[in-house]
Formats: sequence, C-alpha cells, structure tokens
Amino acid sequence: MIEFLLRELEKTQRPVFSKNELTSISCEQFKDLVNKNILTFKRPKYTDVERIRQPRCPHGCYLTVVEYDGELEAFCDEHLDVDPISIDEDDLLRYTFLVEDLLELIAQVNELQGSLQKIAGGFFYLGQRTVSGKRIGLVFTRLIDSNQFVKFLGLKDIFIQDEILLVFAPISLIEDIDLRSRLIQKNIVLTTFFETLNFNSLKLPIGELATELDKLDVAIAEETFNYSPDYLTVEIKGKTFHMNDTQADVIKYLHNAHKTGYEWVKQKEVMIEIFRTPNGDESAFWHKLSSIFKTDEDKKTRDALIAQRGNWQYLRLNL
Ligand SMILES: [Zn+2]
Repeated sequence: MIEFLLRELEKTQRPVFSKNELTSISCEQFKDLVNKNILTFKRPKYTDVERIRQPRCPHGCYLTVVEYDGELEAFCDEHLDVDPISIDEDDLLRYTFLVEDLLELIAQVNELQGSLQKIAGGFFYLGQRTVSGKRIGLVFTRLIDSNQFVKFLGLKDIFIQDEILLVFAPISLIEDIDLRSRLIQKNIVLTTFFETLNFNSLKLPIGELATELDKLDVAIAEETFNYSPDYLTVEIKGKTFHMNDTQADVIKYLHNAHKTGYEWVKQKEVMIEIFRTPNGDESAFWHKLSSIFKTDEDKKTRDALIAQRGNWQYLRLNL
C-alpha cells in the first residue's frame, strides 16, 4: 500500500484516492493508514465539482459526479451520449495521502532526533541520527532531477552539523551517475524509499547506508584531494583549507608519502625533512606538529588533513 501511495506521489503532489481503490489493495492497511492519519478523509465543499477515476467513461475520461434524487451518478463531460452510471460513495476521491504524516511516522520509528521541517526547494528534513560517531541527516524530496545539484549543496549549508545527508526520493531515481558521484563527494547520498524502506515496519537501514558511503568514499578518495602547486590551498573531501608555508610543507610531504604508498610516516621524520638546513642543522628535533598547527583554526585544518596513530607519533594524509 505504501509503495502504491509513493508511486502516486511521484505523479501528483497531493494524490487523492477512493475508498474502493484503496481497500482493493488491502482493507487492513487502509484502516491502519486512516488511523495513523496518513490517509485523511475530506468531505468536499458544497461548491466543489467532484470527479472520479474509477469507473470511467468507455473513452477513458474521468467522470463528473452529480447527486440525483438522493442517488450518486457519474457522467462524462465530453461524451454526453454516454449514459450516466450509478456509483457508490466509496468510489468518490475522498482520501488524501499526507506525505508529511508518513515522514513523521518514519522519523519516529527510526528514532530520529529533531522535528520534521519543510525546506524551500521541495525538501523535507526528517531529523538526524548519529551512527558510529557520524551525524546523519535524512531528507525527502518528491522528485529528483539533474538540475538540482545547487539545491542539494544548499541543503549542506542549512544542516552544517550533519556530516552525511541521505536524500530519499519515493520510488525512482534519475540515472545520472555523474550527479550522484558529485554529491557523494559532498557527503550527500541519493537513494529511494523503494530501495531502502521496509514498507511494513517503516524501518530504514541508516547505519548500512552510511557505511555504503564510506566504501564509496574510499573509492573516490584520490579525487577528493586537490591542491595548489605550492600546497598553500588544499581541498579535501570538498572542504577548502588555507595554510602557511610550514603547514603546506607538512601536507606536501604527507601527500608524497601517500602517492608512493607508504602512507604512515613518523612525525619526527616529517620534522627533520622540512626543517633540514644545508648545514645539516638538527634543530628539527625541537619542532613538533603542535607548534606548526597552533590556533584552534589550525587544529581544525590539521584534523581535517592529517590522520594520526600512536598519540601523533605516526601521521598520514587523511584520505
Ligand atoms: Zn468520455
């Protein structure tokens, strides 16, 4: 049933259904979704012209409903020669699918923090959850198209604290591999409820989706490190950092080590290399990474660019 509703949601923003249409899929689920307010009954205003989808005119048109002598009848506006047919109240399109309420429930079931927010650009933010130290934000959009790259990046600016954003479409995903990989570099993963949501329990495999990203991350890691020839400006995993000469020397050294495959290097070795003087001055022994990255801002740069082991004895580029 949820799958059916999501398919219809891709066609129209506020899909409406008749009771007959829904109960033909499942009586039990129909009642359940009405109880949960995901399907809401709406009595039309007196002035509204009601139309139905099922049954239809022999030519395929939707029929217009009239009440005649206390009975409901439906006729075709265009083919007046076709006799009106008598219909049931349960044929009327009276149940609206409220996706907000479905999203609210999904957020609850998956124990997300925060509350549902509507965001410009047709997005809903469902909330966030922290999985193995990473804060993951969940976003829903009714339709994904390839022109949305900029809009997606905008999401990252709004939810700065979320390390990863999972963006869900209902059923279909555009097969734009380029867009998807560009977004992955910005830690935005596109997926669908169809691929990931358990339609019975409404559970989402958030942890698995995040590790999936880790794997992709490794695969594209090489491309996610960019640098100016002097290493004074470097970009890692989509973030840009500016450094002074000494800091740039450290990163250059670690990058060279990374390229040769011997990633981990001793901090002392790095210091000796970058402070070496023509006279063989060994003052390098007095230098430490902590005196090169001193301020809070420096430390942020250091932590983004350098991974460490053994209490900073060993360093490598954080790719
Ligand atoms: Zn017709």
